[in-house]
Amino acid sequence: MATIGFIGLGNMGGPMAINLAKAGHSVKAFDLSQDAIQKVVAAGGQAATSAVDAAQNVEFVVSMLPAGKHVESIFVTGEQPLFDVVADGTLIIDSSTIDAETAKRVAATGAERGISFIDAPVSGGVGAATAGTLAFMVGGSEALFEKAKPILECMGKNIFRAGDNGAGQVAKCCNNMLLAILMTGTAEALNMGVKNGLDPAVLSEIMKQSSGSNWALQVYNPFPGVMEGVPSSNDYQGGFQVDLMYKDLGLAGDVSHQSGSPTPMGSQARALFSMHKAKGNGGLDFSSVLRLYQDR
Ligand code: NAD
Repeated sequence: MATIGFIGLGNMGGPMAINLAKAGHSVKAFDLSQDAIQKVVAAGGQAATSAVDAAQNVEFVVSMLPAGKHVESIFVTGEQPLFDVVADGTLIIDSSTIDAETAKRVAATGAERGISFIDAPVSGGVGAATAGTLAFMVGGSEALFEKAKPILECMGKNIFRAGDNGAGQVAKCCNNMLLAILMTGTAEALNMGVKNGLDPAVLSEIMKQSSGSNWALQVYNPFPGVMEGVPSSNDYQGGFQVDLMYKDLGLAGDVSHQSGSPTPMGSQARALFSMHKAKGNGGLDFSSVLRLYQDR
């Protein structure tokens, strides 16, 4: 069993760290929130007193932080950069969704100092993080991918190598741009049906079994009361925040711009999430974009 430092125990990182501990690994967990640390300790992990404490003398470091600035600061530019303290041979697996340029820059800085760093963002949401069924999209060499795989398999069921450093993040932002398009489209269709007298549960079932079926209809219905155990049935609490989806659509916009790839649907989805965020909904789950369409 491996020794692992885990940094960032939020909606996603918490259950991921717990799954590593449940698989028998020794997990030193750190977050700015003591509550988040205690949840992992209750599931068999150990509390780290700082990110440095979590990252010292371990074989793997897994990070699950909000954005690129947090990742770069923790590993390279902050007051106590973890690149200064990790042991020789430690593999750093960053599962945060961040921009590919930062992922490549941090990996290159690490490589200059003999430190291994791969990007391994995830898809699947809090449900999959808890169930250990996430999809991982890895950017890094074949050798580091093979080294990381047994660890990733404790947290996910589909582990892909997308390419070299940064490629995992490009795959992730393509996926999340598509997810945003599908979620806004699903909300738009459901709202129109309901405004025309249809029962949202009946309409959802019809579309789920028809050609409009997609992930939102299958496992993450945005209409309150249609599906149990999803954020829409819990006042849009938990799940994947509008702020984070907005960030991801910004990352997709950057990739689109840098590569000259037209993304008109992605731009439209970003405009919708930006309006929804501006109305004060940044902390709600992203399926709450349905509210933008409703008469309220
Ligand atoms: P979150 O806000 O719930 O968790 C982030 C955690 O990082 C918080 O607990 C915060 O306290 C901690 N943190 C921030 N700075 C820190 C620091 N310097 N040291 C230690 N801890 C620090 O976010 P989340 O929903 O868990 O998402 C994390 C990442 O995963 C994001 O990049 C997000 O885009 C991505 N993601 C989220 C989902 C989802 O459904 N929530 C799905 C896929 C990917």
